[in-house]
Amino acid sequence: MTAPHPVPATPQTLAEAGRILAAGGLVAFPTETVYGLGGDATADRAVAAIFAAKGRPRFNPLIVHLAEVAEAEAIVVMEARARALAARFWPGPLTLVLPRAPHSPVSLLASAGLDTIAVRIPDHGVARALIKIAGRPLAAPSANTSGRVSPTRAEHVAACLDERVAMILDGGPCRVGVESTVLDLSGPTPVLLRPGGITAEALAAVLGGPPALAAAGAPLKAPGMLESHYAPSVPVRLGACSPRPGEALLAFGPAPADATLNLSPAGDVEEAAANLFAMLRSLDHGGFTAIAVMPIPEHGLGLAINDRLRRAAAPRPAP
Ligand code: AMP
Ligand code: MG
Repeated sequence: MTAPHPVPATPQTLAEAGRILAAGGLVAFPTETVYGLGGDATADRAVAAIFAAKGRPRFNPLIVHLAEVAEAEAIVVMEARARALAARFWPGPLTLVLPRAPHSPVSLLASAGLDTIAVRIPDHGVARALIKIAGRPLAAPSANTSGRVSPTRAEHVAACLDERVAMILDGGPCRVGVESTVLDLSGPTPVLLRPGGITAEALAAVLGGPPALAAAGAPLKAPGMLESHYAPSVPVRLGACSPRPGEALLAFGPAPADATLNLSPAGDVEEAAANLFAMLRSLDHGGFTAIAVMPIPEHGLGLAINDRLRRAAAPRPAP
């Protein structure tokens, strides 16, 4: 099936889009950078649906879009540098990576299990009206299938996504046309993870000096190749059928009675993706010696789940 035809943003279509998002559905919407594929950032299932629609073989952390600066405080820990940058560049094409706030409602899948969350306020009337009417932060990667160029017109979205996007809001061509600048403020030194709509010089003027470049100083966190995703502190064993003494069993599909948690009793990879990070965390804190995981099929989001699990199970560098 194909994607729906783009519709202009009117009070009626925005209200309908808000209902779709509140029910866990996906809406593509314009921002000043590129079109985003939006879903409820606080709902694991909606975020899993975004990854499924994009056909991403990996869980990259997604940018969480807000309507107002004040909303950021409930989601991430804002400090002086973040406040100064927000005052200068929000709304606008600057994404800030900040520590997750203690009671942040944002889905762990949206941040790919990281303790940080990327947030921004888009400078586009339709985007902000949509976030307001939805009444929740929206996780939104670019509205293209994985590996394709980012869409800067509603027709591009319709051409590469399918019926998994319930509505495409048309806001005309995007003004900036390149992605937002991603700046990591989670450590002592600001690190530019992705160049974009706001220049390094403009950031330097507010920060009092240029940000470090991810490529030069911090290959670990370069966008798209984050190896620092959450890994449980206890060992992870893959392809398990039953737990060994002391192990937790993370099941998938019809499970033995001694399963500790089940990613998806129905064997649905999208449900399993939605549960993955939260269940790994909870088992990690459960006093087990290891986490044994039953096999996950290598199709759809199963590819991204297995990518993540293989990295969690890989031998760890000595501390
Ligand atoms: P896109 O999904 O195309 O909008 O790209 C989002 C970008 O933000 C990617 O380069 C991600 O790696 C980056 N990103 C999002 N969240 C985080 C995070 N918590 N830490 C580091 N980078 C992030
Ligand atoms: Mg993209």
